[in-house]
Amino acid sequence: MAKKQFKSESKRLLDLMIHSIYTHKEIFLRELISNASDAIDKLYYRALTDDSLSFDRENYYIRIDVDKEARTLTITDTGIGMSKEELESNLGTIAKSGSLDFKKEHKIEEDADIIGQFGVGFYSAFMVADTVTVTSKQLGSNEAYQWQSSGADGYTIEPCGKDSVGTQIVLKLKENTEEESYDEFLEEYRLRSIVKKYSDYIRYPIKMLVTKSRPKPKKDENDKDEKVEYESYQEDEILNSMIPIWRKNKSELTQEDYNNFYKEKFYDYEDPLLTIHTSADGVTSYKALLYIPAHAPFDYYTKEYEKGLQLYANGVMIMDKCADLLPDCFGFVKGLVDSADLSLNISREILQHDRQLKVIANHLQKKIKSELSNLLKNDREKYEKFYQAFSRPLKFGIYNEFGRDKDLLKDLLMFCSSKEKKMVTLSEYVSRMPEDQKYIYYASGESVDKVEKLPQTERIMDKGYEILYFIEDVDEFAIQMLREFEGKEFKSVSASDLGLDNEEEKKEEEKKETENKELFAFMKDVLEGKVKDVKASTRLKTHPVCLSSEGMLSIEMEKVLNSMPTDNKVKAERILEINVNHPIFDKLTDMLKTDKDKLKKYTEVLYDGALLIEGLSVDDPVAFSNNICDLIG
Ligand code: ADP
Repeated sequence: MAKKQFKSESKRLLDLMIHSIYTHKEIFLRELISNASDAIDKLYYRALTDDSLSFDRENYYIRIDVDKEARTLTITDTGIGMSKEELESNLGTIAKSGSLDFKKEHKIEEDADIIGQFGVGFYSAFMVADTVTVTSKQLGSNEAYQWQSSGADGYTIEPCGKDSVGTQIVLKLKENTEEESYDEFLEEYRLRSIVKKYSDYIRYPIKMLVTKSRPKPKKDENDKDEKVEYESYQEDEILNSMIPIWRKNKSELTQEDYNNFYKEKFYDYEDPLLTIHTSADGVTSYKALLYIPAHAPFDYYTKEYEKGLQLYANGVMIMDKCADLLPDCFGFVKGLVDSADLSLNISREILQHDRQLKVIANHLQKKIKSELSNLLKNDREKYEKFYQAFSRPLKFGIYNEFGRDKDLLKDLLMFCSSKEKKMVTLSEYVSRMPEDQKYIYYASGESVDKVEKLPQTERIMDKGYEILYFIEDVDEFAIQMLREFEGKEFKSVSASDLGLDNEEEKKEEEKKETENKELFAFMKDVLEGKVKDVKASTRLKTHPVCLSSEGMLSIEMEKVLNSMPTDNKVKAERILEINVNHPIFDKLTDMLKTDKDKLKKYTEVLYDGALLIEGLSVDDPVAFSNNICDLIG
């Protein structure tokens, strides 16, 4: 019989399959099972509108049969079947396939990943088989046809005998090579695990004849000592569980069901902190089961971590980690999305896929946010546990993309505060601000212990104002992006103007500045290149000196930026502030008149001390030590 040629597009895809170096060849089974399931679906929908057809679930199934000697793997379904024309057009032409269009568009020649991510349908059989034989009988037809192909040289179609409606696909597996073994696709355990992995939730039973063992009947019923002997026998087994947990009603499920599923599926030893089971109907309908882990995955803060949700199209897993479904700020969320709308589109038509996914991603983002807000409201302890594990991605979420998501995330933020050393949300902070307090104050440093002791906090504390402690490197960056919360601006305790003073106090300060102009000018000269200015402090009460900074870049931010491996080092504009009410100040004014050399040393030591308070190292530790010895000696 004359061979027919594949259409050129199909031939390209076929070639790609035959010579595939793709490592997950196992997905061919997912593709064939998924086609089989679709074919049964079609019969099911037909039966819904045609009274002469009855759809008795019992009679609809998918079978896998293995013949080790013949090296064949057979997939049989009781679906709607294909006519001769359909065999021709469906299996002879694959140009419809969206994955191929995608490849063309992106000029990807041999990107094996496409195979894994989007599926390539029927042709994937050629990754493992050198001859594929499809026998099919269509619903309502008396004839059956056989399509056969050994690859790129074409295919044949001829009439054949087949009793029941449906399709049977026989794969003659490739011979093993040095690099690849195809034998594994004849092994019961392997097939079982592939089905479990990709097709567990296919709605129809996937049956396979499996070998089991059972105890033989005893020879003598009454002989207690008789050894039990076992015999093996073969039995059909259903390999898939058929009903996915996310498709069940919430009322049917316990938290334990959810937890077990989570731990098994996402390899966690600990129960999740929060489970979100949600669905949407409408233009885009989907079901989603999301989990917030109780702790950050071990690789979460490494480059290796891949965010994403599993994506199912009508019960068939089509992508293991669909990154587009989760924004980075919620990258720690585990789970899956199953959408019926995607089944015909997503793996094939990439554009539609994009739009649908965006809608779902949007919904999910809002849902995660609202669930976290509820947790914060209703179970503070649990929320704080969550926050301890995942505050960083939230803060980065505020900072990234020029603050695009800041409104989504700002209510979820918490900081340790000077009041009771407890975590507070920004809205709690603002709600208990005294009336005369203009700003939300914060202090940055390495740890709560260190920040608490910062001299810069003195007057603010004295006024009875609360201070937020920023101890993570990202904190100040996130807050600068946020700028304000409920109309209140953020202000660092080290900012040049704290906004504390009334008119009278301001006048007093100006007076001190002018009175001590000469002293400050001298000190500034000594610290040439190190500080922008030396000033009378408005924030100190009992401490002698501190540093403050002018402009956007704080000293803490300088530290963070400079700890990164780049050559672009930055420097905050430092101001050395002197407490004019401290006894040391009188000494300084005296020295200006009597001993300028000594004043120089004092100035250097005071500046070095201020650096140490900030957690910075002194520029010249030897000079620092010698200065101190000179002064105390
Ligand atoms: P896709 O599933 O993306 O359309 P495939 O190459 O997997 O691409 O299949 C092409 C077409 O062949 C399907 O759309 C379907 O109409 C038909 N087909 C494949 N397998 C079967 C089957 N087991 N029963 C009935 N029709 C099938």
